[in-house]
Amino acid sequence: MKISIVGCGYVGTVTGVCFADFGHDIVFHDIDRKKLDYLDRGKAPIYEPSLEDLIRKNRERLTTTSNLTVAVRDTDLTFVCVGTPSRDDGSIDLAYILSASATIGKALAKAPDFHSVIVKSTVFPGTTDGPVRSVLEQESGRQASVDFGLGSNPEFLREGNAVYDFSMPDRIVLGAGDDRTMGMLRTLYTSFSCPKLETSIRTAEMIKYASNAFLATKISFANEIGNLAKRLGIDPEEVFAGVGLDRRIGPAFFRTGIGFGGSCFPKDVRALIAGAGDHGENLQVLHAALRVNDEQPLKLIRLLQAHIPDLSDRRIGVLGLAFKPDTDDVRESRAIPVIQALLDAGAEVVAYDPLAMENFASFFPQIEYAPSPEIVLAADAVLITTEWGEFEHLDYSGTTVIDGRRIATASRTAEVYEGVCW
Ligand code: NAD
Repeated sequence: MKISIVGCGYVGTVTGVCFADFGHDIVFHDIDRKKLDYLDRGKAPIYEPSLEDLIRKNRERLTTTSNLTVAVRDTDLTFVCVGTPSRDDGSIDLAYILSASATIGKALAKAPDFHSVIVKSTVFPGTTDGPVRSVLEQESGRQASVDFGLGSNPEFLREGNAVYDFSMPDRIVLGAGDDRTMGMLRTLYTSFSCPKLETSIRTAEMIKYASNAFLATKISFANEIGNLAKRLGIDPEEVFAGVGLDRRIGPAFFRTGIGFGGSCFPKDVRALIAGAGDHGENLQVLHAALRVNDEQPLKLIRLLQAHIPDLSDRRIGVLGLAFKPDTDDVRESRAIPVIQALLDAGAEVVAYDPLAMENFASFFPQIEYAPSPEIVLAADAVLITTEWGEFEHLDYSGTTVIDGRRIATASRTAEVYEGVCW
């Protein structure tokens, strides 16, 4: 099939490149010309393991354009993969979705054949069939389900594992407003062997939100039990090894630590809470999950202050700035509240991350970025905020380590060691 991708970030780039690897022809479009330039040079506009190899392998099936009208005319489907950040009140900010829809709508007005628009971005239930549909119809002068198709195909990939997750998903959710669109989605995903759910557009949107909200809640639940376990002298890893063996529960997402960050869980849980509020529902469990997640990183500072009560002018090292390992993404990283609290307490911060220092520096230009972790380890104390594999191979001897991510080598070899929940 021929596919247009609108938005070349983590989801759009991985979606386009992986579909190309399945034999489809892809046209990428983004308002950020730099992203397209990267792709034109055979490079990935974002860091994701093995993505650049796939771009090189499939170069003849990957093109870019700044002219979406031509892309829509020449393709069967358009995937909308633009960002859906939070507004200040936590509700979903649809600005990118609506501006992308307006551009696609103008292009649809000139499309000679039936073309389907599939929203892959995470949006509140009702968005695709509501505001997106209205803008597309208004700008194209055409009618959804009759002159063009509309669908929802939420994405479940994890950054750092995105190529594998996209190609080997646990399930695929296909929501369509008309038979032709569902038919195209079925064809597109024919070679995937996982369970495929065919639903309404609204249900597909809700499956994505409910999945992220449950996983976020599972993490906050584990952290709350972990906080109590630490006080009782119990190792939460052993506790959750036992709990996770219950088939009704499962072992995933029970790692205790300083909580979840990233471009999805925090904003999606906030958006679900805010959207539910608009419909008269108060999602109390999710409010609590966010509260635990806000407090968890600050526990690291309290544990540090048990060793160094006055942090003013003390040099504190931070290992890890990405919100998780194997990505350069720092959106809502737990290192952000940790470093902010250190600065508020008057500490001098020196930080190291294998990939994310450049991205982090745009938020915190005032801290020192070390070219090697050894410089961080020479500080008065070190906080570990991301579980990068390479942190297992450092020499922590003579160091005070407060660990938010359970680095086993640090627990064995640091002079003073405290874990946030262990
Ligand atoms: P991102 O910020 O990395 O990329 C979004 C891209 O869209 C940017 O390159 C931006 O320039 C582009 N864009 C914005 N407005 C545009 C427009 N009008 N026309 C063309 N391009 C435009 O975002 P992301 O992390 O890829 O997330 C995209 C969506 O997918 C979000 O809704 C997110 O919640 C969801 N999602 C993300 C992940 C993830 O792990 N990142 C996983 C699953 C779902």
